[in-house]
This record gives sequence, structure tokens and C-alpha cells, in this order.
Amino acid sequence: MSDYDTVSADVEREEEIPEDHPRYQDLLTRHRIENGVEKGITHLQGMHAEGRGSAFDYLLGEETIPSADAAERAGAAHLLLADRPVLSINGNVAALVPGEMVDLADATDADLEINLFNRTPERMQAIADHLSEHGAEDVRGLEADARIPNLDHERAKVDEDGIYSADVVLVPLEDGDRAEALAEMGKTEIVVDLNPLSRSPRVADVPIVDNIIRAVPNVTDHARELADADEETLQEIVAEFDREQALEAAEERIRDGF
Ligand code: ATP
Ligand code: MG
Repeated sequence: MSDYDTVSADVEREEEIPEDHPRYQDLLTRHRIENGVEKGITHLQGMHAEGRGSAFDYLLGEETIPSADAAERAGAAHLLLADRPVLSINGNVAALVPGEMVDLADATDADLEINLFNRTPERMQAIADHLSEHGAEDVRGLEADARIPNLDHERAKVDEDGIYSADVVLVPLEDGDRAEALAEMGKTEIVVDLNPLSRSPRVADVPIVDNIIRAVPNVTDHARELADADEETLQEIVAEFDREQALEAAEERIRDGF
């Protein structure tokens, strides 16, 4: 048994995971989801979602492929052009990238809104507290004074001055029904999802097929780099991005390895 085999999934703190481990990102991701479940911010079902994502990431080579980087740049341009950009947070997103979502909101002047598939007041509050601990000043989603049309009651709940009236939304690890319903509302939708065949990326204007732990910091880097770009430049980046090509490139990498 090598040393690596002794790094089981039950490390106490993430610093204990060796950074040179061949599956470092996967161990880190699993560890954060487990912690999220323990803290009451992630639903147990979030672990299954994570497992599916992990398999696709393995096949992608656990790296940001060029088409995903292009999508991340286009997503940054959309967020910078938006009048009312909102970043949606669910239990997995809160567990995996809380501080990174706060940074992205900061870089693009966007609002953060908690939106849960399995919504309970306790989880909503636990996530709001968790985001505050990571520097969020204002978190939406708790009021839930508006509804997304054509969705069942619990999953339709949003804030009137948040997702409901947003023009551009970033919805990472979103379920297909909600992604479709948001697209039908006419919003520009940026989806982060490791499965290019899942419905959510397939209805997105900008499908980002990448692990959220790499995707979000990279969108932020692009946004910071484009902070002084004029509107025309941003519009060009948006226009040049080809969503079909991005989905195809990701599927090809997963199926054929190149
Ligand atoms: P549907 O086809 O209805 O969308 P699904 O299999 O996609 O079903 P969900 O639980 O709705 O199931 O979605 C979870 C999605 O999140 C999966 O597509 C999975 O690949 C993706 N995912 C999980 N972890 C990550 C991650 N760390 N980064 C990016 N995507 C992830
Ligand atoms: Mg899906």
C-alpha cells in the first residue's frame, strides 16, 4: 500500500490532503462536500451530484480545457455587460467555493442569491451564515417573494429584486428543470456543469464544462482582466463564443480523450 492509499476520505482538515496527490482536486472536492453535509449546508443528495461530477472530471483530465476557458471568458464578459447580474448558490456551491463566489460577485458587481432544490429554513440560514463568514455582505434568497413561472412551488422560490429581475444569471450545478425555466424567462444563463450532456448546460447561453473549483476563480480572473475593457470589446467576446462548439469539444474530450 502506498502512502497515497492511506489518504482516505476521512481526513479531518483539508490541509492534510497532500497537494501532490494525483487525485488532489477530487479529494479536496469530496472533503468539502462532506464538511458541507456535516455543517448542514449541503443536502445528502449533493454527494451523489458530486460523484457524478467527479467521474466526468476524471475523463476531462481534471483540467480546464481550452473551450471551457473560452466559455469562462464569455461568462465574465456577460456578467460585466449585465445591468442586474446574479450568482445563484446551492448547497454544493456553498460548500465548494464560498469565498470564490464572493470574489466573483465583487469583480462583476453581482448579487449572491441562495437557491435550494431541497429548501429548508435551517439550510437557508446555515448557508447565509457560511457565506457571511467568507466575506459576503449581502445575501439574497431568504425573502422568496417571487416565483419562477412553470416550476413547482418550492423550487420556484426566488427574490423579486434578485434572480426574478436579473438579466444575467450564473447557475452552477443547476438542475435541468430550473435551468430550462430560467431560460424561458428570457434570462442570459451561464451554467457550470461537468456533464456536457446534462440538460442544464444544453439550455445555457454559456455552458461552462469545468469543475466549479477551477471555473469560478477563472471567471473572476477574466473579469478582473476585462475590468477596463469597453463595451464593444465585451460584446465581441460574447458574439465570438460558440456554445455548440463548446459542448461538442467537451463531449469529444470525454469520449475520445482529445
Ligand atoms: P439532469 O439531467 O436532470 O440535469 P443530473 O444528472 O445532471 O440530471 P443533477 O443532480 O441535477 O443531476 O446535477 C448535478 C450536476 O452537477 C451533474 O451534471 C454533475 O456533473 C455536476 N457537477 C457535480 N459536481 C460538480 C462540480 N464540482 N463542478 C461542476 N459540475 C459538477
Ligand atoms: Mg444536470
